[in-house]
Order: sequence, then structure tokens, then C-alpha cells
Amino acid sequence: MANFMNESSSEGAAVTAVGHVLRAYPIPLRGAENPSSTAAGTTPGSFANAARIGSALAFSSPDTPGMPAPSARTAWDFLPADWSVEAVESNVVGCAGHSLGEVGAFVRAVAPRGFVAVTQLENARLGIVTAQMKRVAEREGHLSPAQVRDEVAAGRMVIPANIVHLGYKLDPMAIGRASKTKINANIGASPVSSGTDEEVEKLKWAERWGADTVMDLSTGGDLDACREAFIRNSTVPIGTVPIYSMIIGKKLEELNEEIVLRTLEHQAKQGVDYFTIHAGVLKEHLPLIRKRLIGIVSRGGSLLAKWMLVNNRQNLMYTGWDRICDVMREYDVTFSIGDGLRPGGLADATDLAQLSELTTIGELTERAWRKGLQVMVEGPGHVPFDQIEYNMKLQRTVCHGAPFYVLGPLTTDIFPGYDHITSCIGATAAGYHGASMLCYVTPKEHLGLPKKDDVKQGCIAYKIAAHAADIALGIPGTRDRDDELTKARAALNWQKHFELSFDPDTARAYHDEDLDVDTDFCAMCGHDWCSVRISKEIQEFHSGKDEEYQTGKPMRSAALTEEQQEILTKRGVLSPDEIHRLASKTKGGVSKVEVTKVEVGADAAKASCHSDYVDPETAQNTPGEKLVQLNTAPAHNLSSHDSLI
Ligand code: SF4
Repeated sequence: MANFMNESSSEGAAVTAVGHVLRAYPIPLRGAENPSSTAAGTTPGSFANAARIGSALAFSSPDTPGMPAPSARTAWDFLPADWSVEAVESNVVGCAGHSLGEVGAFVRAVAPRGFVAVTQLENARLGIVTAQMKRVAEREGHLSPAQVRDEVAAGRMVIPANIVHLGYKLDPMAIGRASKTKINANIGASPVSSGTDEEVEKLKWAERWGADTVMDLSTGGDLDACREAFIRNSTVPIGTVPIYSMIIGKKLEELNEEIVLRTLEHQAKQGVDYFTIHAGVLKEHLPLIRKRLIGIVSRGGSLLAKWMLVNNRQNLMYTGWDRICDVMREYDVTFSIGDGLRPGGLADATDLAQLSELTTIGELTERAWRKGLQVMVEGPGHVPFDQIEYNMKLQRTVCHGAPFYVLGPLTTDIFPGYDHITSCIGATAAGYHGASMLCYVTPKEHLGLPKKDDVKQGCIAYKIAAHAADIALGIPGTRDRDDELTKARAALNWQKHFELSFDPDTARAYHDEDLDVDTDFCAMCGHDWCSVRISKEIQEFHSGKDEEYQTGKPMRSAALTEEQQEILTKRGVLSPDEIHRLASKTKGGVSKVEVTKVEVGADAAKASCHSDYVDPETAQNTPGEKLVQLNTAPAHNLSSHDSLI
């Protein structure tokens, strides 16, 4: 059917021998690659724009009419005043994907004599491919080291990698439109809850569930010790909002530039990879807040607004921006320019205050690039679904393609307790339309400090958003694991199905809760109604018959692992005795799934399978006590032993 649709779409429709119309509809394919390496299956592929790596439109959605066009400028237009640019022969020694077409196809910056490059941006501008860029290319798969360098040089990609943190366990990663969409997890002790050990445990937990970066938002306990512990223990970049530690134990109005620079220097020396600095909130913006339903919801934004009003002065982060840049450059700390005026409710989204701050953030981006700093920009927040694309594309214009790092956004305000869901819907749209990193929201958002399970729920919701966006954008190979899982599902190969799942323990536990036999149906529909089994039996279909995925006889599943037991205990559907029975199968032992870090697109650690064979009749009867088994044979005038097909 897919071939028919594609091949004959220009001809409209075909008519079968018996007169049925097979209608072909025009499919708006715009050149994006099929996100599956093998283009398996029948879908025509991604409807996004062609990849266009090396331009502002790398992996982009088609613009809805009225969207702002991408900026024609890049970080190449904002070199330090005493630098120049020369044309070079090839992409080996110079960058493509720049905005200086009048100079040549490949360009390289020339720094003043004696200049020593520190930041990834400075290296990239000089045509150098760093070890971190090579590592990013390894991890991204679809990008070459030269492409990574070119994207960094253009300012469209950042590699947050403090030179101190690189001396510990940091595994360099990249944030930008040309790379896969990333997620951030916020953790950190608060004045009323949690401590360093618990937070480090959450850090490891967030890494396990796929967080690409982690922000330490501690506002209580020993902030310094907590930060140090995060940096020494993390393989992912660590971000902070330094104003929190600037005001601990002091009156807010006492904050001055010296404290700001001293604190930044201290945290940079510790190895923090990126700083959120709310320098875009200006005194002139504050009257615009008055009519909002919920004022300023950014902690940093509200603190600085109060400081400006109490002191009747301009934001000291804005006035001190160039000196802040100088401190951060020494350690290659990346900017995450904070959105202090982000909307805190749908009613305040895309308002003048938010967009005025964005204009200032655009100016700060240009100034930071002139100082050699890597820059990403933070964004909202709470945004109605229909306004998300505009928000993403406006930032792309104003900030010349600097990566956008958005919180959510939440698409409705009335589901506290479920804001990982309300926001992951917005995050998926944001990822598709332009965001490069999605800051997770947990079920505890607006309600309290996330606990370990909230961190897991938030990470998973956001891995779903990021992965869904990457598939839609046609990033090569991003659908491979989905297709493998589909094949395993079609073959009713449960063990493979779970191994390919992002969270194998939950998938296995949910399955075994009803039926602890891996057979050719599950408890949702039962044997007679299992469409996947029926499809597999139809000889004309290839469905589920791939040799590689065949399992042979039904098998009793392995004993539940501790984690799987915990999942079922929390659900409370089975009695403790029933869970104990599932956990104490002798022959199978324990199929513990060791997952140190779950990454979509990469193979999860494999569970060992120790299942016992069971005969098909037993398998079919196993769930019989719990499920109503519908036998459709009589409806077809067949005895219960006859096959339907
Ligand atoms: S029984 Fe239903 S849910 Fe389960 S595998 Fe078959 S079709 Fe899918």
C-alpha cells in the first residue's frame, strides 16, 4: 500500500479488479530522511524539512505561515574586535556552515599573535577539532567531527565542558539542532528537605534514566559540598544558578558585582559546566509584569527584580556582563542565559515582558560570542500549545540560532501532580519546532521537592518527548530501536520486546502481573482475540515471521527481580503472596537487568533469560483463572480445536 501511495500519488487513485478504489493522497514529504536506517515498514518517513546540517534549518519543522525567518547571522558575525577571517582550501582546516559567504566556502578565524584558545568556540573558530568534538561525533553517529566543529563555530551548538570537570569523569556531549535533542534533570537540596548524599543518589539515578545534563538547584544544606560532590561524581555536564549561593546568609540588597564575580570564579574553579545567569531582566521590563496573573516565577528573575527595585539600579548581571564573560572564559563555562521573565501560567505566555527580555538576551548572546563564550538560551515555561512553534522560531531569529533550552513548556495549568505529562506534551512540540534541550518537569512540579521516583518519572517523560521529536525531525537512525521493538512485538518475542524497552523492569513487571508465561498473546486481549497472533498466522502477511525473532515454545518467565517486585508492590494489584510466588521461581533464578545508563538509540543491557518451557495448552490456560477467555470458534461454526486460519 505504501508503494502504491507513493508511486501513484500524482495520479490520484487506482481501481482494483473488483472495483474498490485504492485512493492515494498527496504526502507532504519535504526531503527529511526516513529516521530508520533500513526504512523498514510502510510509513513514507519524516514530514520534516530536509536535514540541511550546516545551516539554520538543520533538522527543522516546516514553518506555519507567519513564523519569523531564521537569522541570516551566526556567531561568525560576532568575532572579537581584534580577530579577522581568512578563506581556506578545505573543510579539514576551516569551517563550513558559516554566514560569511563573501569570504569563501571554508573559513578560519585569525586571532592576535600569542592568543591561546581555551573555549570550544575559540578552538572551532580557529579550525581546530578538539578531543571533545571528536567524542561528540562518536556519540551522535550522524555527525562528523568537522561538522561538530562547524556547528560550534557557528554558535548553533555548545559542548558544556569545564576544563576542570574534564579532569574528572565528564563524558562530553553536545546541545544543538544538528545533534539529538537532549534533556536536563534538576536536582539539589532545599532548605526544608534532602541532603548531599540523597542528592548524589538522585544524580546517579537521573544519569541512569537518561539525563544528558543535570542542574544543581540547591538552595539549602551545604551548597558548596553538594556542588563539589555532583561535579566529582557526574559523567554529564553540571549546571548551576550561581545567584542562589551569592545570597545565602546575606541580605539580597547587599549583592554587588564583587560578590557576583567571586562566586562565579569559585564555581568555575570547582568545574561547573554551565551557568544560568538572568542578565536579560532589565529595570525597564518590570512595569510590564504588573498586569500578569502570576508575576515572576523564575527564582533568579524575582531576586534580581527585587534587587533592582530596592537599589533603584539596573540589573548588575547585565551591567557586569563583560566581566562575567572574562571569568567564565578562563574555564570554558558555557552560558545558559536565564529567562527571568518566563511566563508562570498560560495567561502570561508570549507577553511583552517575556519577549522584551528575549530581545535583551539576543544582545547578550552577541556580546558573549564576541568574548569567545559558548552560549545557550533558556526559554519558557507555560505556553499554550498553539504558541510553542512561534516561541521557538522567534528565539532562533533573535539569538541567531544559539541552542534553545526550554523548561517544559506546560500546555495546561490545571493538572498539578501530572505536570510531567502536561509539559512533556509541550516539550515534544518544542523539540520538533526548535528547542535543543528540554528541561524536565517532574510530578512534584509546583508542589514540592522531587523524590527519587519523581526524578525517574520526569526523565522518562522527557526522554519520550526528545525521542519523539528526533524521530519526527528525521534524524538518521533514531527510529532503529523502535523498529526492532516492533519486530519483536510482532513476533510475540516478549524477552526481546522488554530488552528493547526503555524501562525493561516496568515492562516485564506489568506483563507478569497478569501472565508469567511468555507466549503468543498477553493478558490484554487473551489468546483468541490477539490480533498480533492472528496476523502472524496469516500466511500472506510477513507479520511476525522474521526468523531472527522467533522464540519457539511458550516459556515461563524468570523470577521477578527486586526492582520488578517493587514496581508490582507499589501498584498494589497483586497480593504480597502472589508477588512472592513470582519472585521465588526456582529454576529461572533472577533475570536482573543491569542498566547503568539508559539511552534511546543504544542497546540497553540485556536481561538474561532463564525461562522454563511450558506447553502451549498450559500457556493458554495459565491466565484462565484471572481472565475471561473468549472463544470465537463457535461464531465461525468451528469446534474449539479447529484453527480459524
Ligand atoms: S493480546 Fe492484545 S495486547 Fe497482547 S499482544 Fe496480542 S494484540 Fe497485543
